[in-house]
Amino acid sequence: MPRPILATIHPQAIRHNLERVRQAAPDAKLMCVTKANAYGHGVERAFEGLRAADGFAVLELAEAQRLRQLDWRGPILLLEGVFEVRDLELCSRLGVWHTIHCDEQIDWLAGHKTQVPHRVFLKMNSGMNRLGFTPERFRSAYARLNALPQVEEISFITHFSDADGVRGIDHQLQVFMEVTADLPGERSDCNSAATLIFGGDARVRNDWVRPGIVLYGSAPDYPARTADDWGLQPAMTLSTKVIGTQTLKAGDTVGYGSTFTADGPMQLGVIACGYADGYPRSCGTGTPVLVNGVRARLLGRVSMDMICVDLTPVPGAGMGSEVVLWGQSPTTGAVLSIDEVAAAGGTVGYELMCAVAPRVPVVSDEALPACK
Ligand SMILES: *Cc1c(COP(=O)(O)O)cnc(C)c1O
Repeated sequence: MPRPILATIHPQAIRHNLERVRQAAPDAKLMCVTKANAYGHGVERAFEGLRAADGFAVLELAEAQRLRQLDWRGPILLLEGVFEVRDLELCSRLGVWHTIHCDEQIDWLAGHKTQVPHRVFLKMNSGMNRLGFTPERFRSAYARLNALPQVEEISFITHFSDADGVRGIDHQLQVFMEVTADLPGERSDCNSAATLIFGGDARVRNDWVRPGIVLYGSAPDYPARTADDWGLQPAMTLSTKVIGTQTLKAGDTVGYGSTFTADGPMQLGVIACGYADGYPRSCGTGTPVLVNGVRARLLGRVSMDMICVDLTPVPGAGMGSEVVLWGQSPTTGAVLSIDEVAAAGGTVGYELMCAVAPRVPVVSDEALPACK
């Protein structure tokens, strides 16, 4: 008998979430972000739900290669561009678009002998101060690129630091639009939060939006709004079972460090999940879980392989009961948002979905696409 922990991916939910993004930005093309193995969902499994995408954005050439093996012939953008000069060869071979964010990447391209000229996305650092040319240096970078025979088409890209926050996107949007105003080429600026919140805003001239987290059913601006508020469905369910029980009396403590003390009689369930499965150790007493579809809470510390939960509120719960750490209960349909669990652990849904450990088996509840 394998340990009962399992991550189940729901391509139908991804399909639904993609439709939600389309509604939010009806005039834009969707470049669906599948970096980090599709935010932990698996490129192949996520792809099944993303067939209606107009393009994909990835971090690594290996991810682009996997998409081509799935017979995706449409656009793929390397979000950070190439990491060394010889990557350009593979870009040519795979027909992959790539970001240009620094002078070195222009140098490499200038020295690249390619039969097929490349489409590149010139990146502006409009205020986030990670990758990209500053507004002051942007136009000279453009002029350099534009003069290269290796370049077929130049588009413009920038990234917002506060689309989900109080500062918003105006300060960056204004710079980006001003500096690129008279340059010919497509533009891409919105991540999930910007797409949902500002996708319908006429000032955001966005040919390509770059949704990531929203596709996987997490609210980019939680807790201001929830996945439910945005009409999103969870794309991943992390589930397990109760593998042991204890009956506590007043004064009994639970787990390492005895951080929880029972103030009266209670039923405790031990479940097969721990931080070695990717569940955050920073969660503890009070973090919600679903037992047989009913909301219950963690007790004490998360340990490597086990977590204790309070079974007192769940009638009939015991050995073998279904437990959902986040996602949707397969038996009752009840949903526990990954954002809520993440917040209880002081982090974000992104980190949880990306951190599911290799020892957790992952399955899709739909048939997978065949690889070439
Ligand atoms: C990861 C990433 C995105 C997607 O961000 P989400 O918040 O997941 O929508 C968009 N653009 C760039 C440049 C990224 O690195």
